[in-house]
Amino acid sequence: MKIIVPIKQVPETSNVKMDMNTGTMVREGVEPIVNPLDLYAIEEAVNLKEKHGGEVIAISMGPQKAGFAIKEAISMGCDDGILLTNKAFAGSDTWSTSYVLSQAIRKIDHFDVIICGERATDGDTGQVGPGIAAWLDIPFLTYISCIRDVGENNITVERMIENGYETLDIEIPCLLTVVKEINYPRLPTLGGKLRAKSMEIATWGPEEIEAKKENIGLHGSPTRVVKISTPKVSRNGDIRVPNSENELNAAINELIVFLERKGTL
Ligand code: FAD
Repeated sequence: MKIIVPIKQVPETSNVKMDMNTGTMVREGVEPIVNPLDLYAIEEAVNLKEKHGGEVIAISMGPQKAGFAIKEAISMGCDDGILLTNKAFAGSDTWSTSYVLSQAIRKIDHFDVIICGERATDGDTGQVGPGIAAWLDIPFLTYISCIRDVGENNITVERMIENGYETLDIEIPCLLTVVKEINYPRLPTLGGKLRAKSMEIATWGPEEIEAKKENIGLHGSPTRVVKISTPKVSRNGDIRVPNSENELNAAINELIVFLERKGTL
């Protein structure tokens, strides 16, 4: 089984800072890490390889530093990695990012499954996985919480929905995005770290993946961030401390009237 895991390097902070003028993210001075939700994708891919044989290849589009993300994936059990890095890729939106990743996957040639994280903790759109599948014209399923069975031509999965789970079959080759309920990511091993350290990571640019110039980078991206603002969180709570049953009932009635007025009851 050949499994590809696209991983993104993100800033190690929940407080993502934006450049208000350019609409892009400020990466300077922030330690990069592997997108935490991609660790579940790596774990699931390595699990599948351990059960069914084959190989796992991690790919990442980003600056040179994203090579560390690939090395971490290898130290967790991935067999190989490819870094997609070039100035021409800078400023890519989800459409362009998915295009670049899909072109790299085409170059890898044969694959059975692509496993992505649910979303990246910085951009947070969750669009790249389905985007890759669209470019490659393969089926995809999102929010996968369990891979139940792997057959010769299809995979049976459990998908998280609002009120529970649904069990679905998907044809191979396919793309899955996984949620954190799927597994518990392992820590990199010492042996894995040593292997990753000694490995040369292949680096591909637009020419290697035969990417169309008009589809990549800021100029190839149809998304325009028009305005960025920080939402103001303002909660004007109304606290009641009832001292008797009558006061409690009165407070409950008041709450019911309030919720009815808001149309939530
Ligand atoms: P997601 O789609 O959330 O990532 C899902 C999965 O795709 C990841 O778990 C990983 O498996 C894979 N993946 C994602 N990026 C990579 C990568 N570079 N290399 C390898 N695998 C990857 N772009 C838009 O097109 N539309 C927007 O509305 C938009 N809004 C943004 C808002 C903010 C605040 C920021 C910081 C960025 C925004 N972007 C937007 C840009 C966005 O960060 C990039 O397009 C980015 O390359 C991928 O999108 P994402 O972070 O949302 O990834």
